[in-house]
Amino acid sequence: MSQGESERKPRRFPLQLDRVSAVPVPGAAPRPFLQPRELLRPQAPLQHAAQDRLRQTIPQGVGLDSVRVRRRMVERLVAEGISHPGLLDAFGQVPRHQFVDTALVNQAYEDTSLPIGLGQTISKPSVVAAMIQLLCVRPGLPVLAAARPGSEARPLGACLEIGTGCGYQAALLAHLARQVVSIERLRDLHHKARQHLDQLRLTLPGWPDVRLVYGDGMVGHAPQAPYDTIIAAAGGSALPQAWLDQLAPGGRLVAPTEDGRGGSQVLAIVDRLPDGSLQHSRAGAVLFVPLKSGTR
Ligand code: SAH
Repeated sequence: MSQGESERKPRRFPLQLDRVSAVPVPGAAPRPFLQPRELLRPQAPLQHAAQDRLRQTIPQGVGLDSVRVRRRMVERLVAEGISHPGLLDAFGQVPRHQFVDTALVNQAYEDTSLPIGLGQTISKPSVVAAMIQLLCVRPGLPVLAAARPGSEARPLGACLEIGTGCGYQAALLAHLARQVVSIERLRDLHHKARQHLDQLRLTLPGWPDVRLVYGDGMVGHAPQAPYDTIIAAAGGSALPQAWLDQLAPGGRLVAPTEDGRGGSQVLAIVDRLPDGSLQHSRAGAVLFVPLKSGTR
């Protein structure tokens, strides 16, 4: 360093960290002060850093930030081909961050599956959306619409969900169905979902309720059958007969199921035609937690 350069250095030491960016550099345009939250604060406790991060990326309570990040999620869904207005409206309203553990709140609106406890996961929004849209636009819908005028606003009709998990998908379904029955085999998750859905109804008064059932979803739920739509969030080696039996004419079932090659899963779609026969088809590869029998 030459003598001339050292003379141009600021003379007062030590420099304050929050003034560093304002030190004039010869020949360079003057730089504004950094905003306080952008400062490096190596001495700040780690929990402060974590709080700062949360403040920048996540909803504050159920305020405006939450609306904004959900809107971005909806825009991503639209870009991926989700177009059903009622479904997009549901995604725009249900606060996904209220369904995950506090530590995961800042990931709640990313397109990712997240752990919900007991080795289970909440599916990624794009997969949930694609599955529900398959139900909303099923070929049997006009049959239902003819039988029940006004059902366009509730295209899922009577809906059965297998695998309540944290209750997020059930909340979306409730917006689009006349009635939702959701079954969970793990008692703790069943209770957790109840808490989440109660909280949701405080946040969104008037949001339709869901009938939560603790039990083995492999046998469906006969007391309220038949269902216009059935959706499973866990996949087994074959579709349980009870699900097919409980599917109404004009109804559709979507469920992950093993494709018979090394345990990988595809999305199975079954339509019950007006004449009562079943039509099977398949969508792409998926990855869901296993469908297990019994309760725990
Ligand atoms: N839709 C859920 C995703 C849950 S993950 C959500 O939005 O959070 C799948 C769930 O299926 C798990 O909670 C798992 O316990 C449940 N499950 C697996 N086999 C089941 C069965 N036979 N009956 C009911 N629930 C089952």
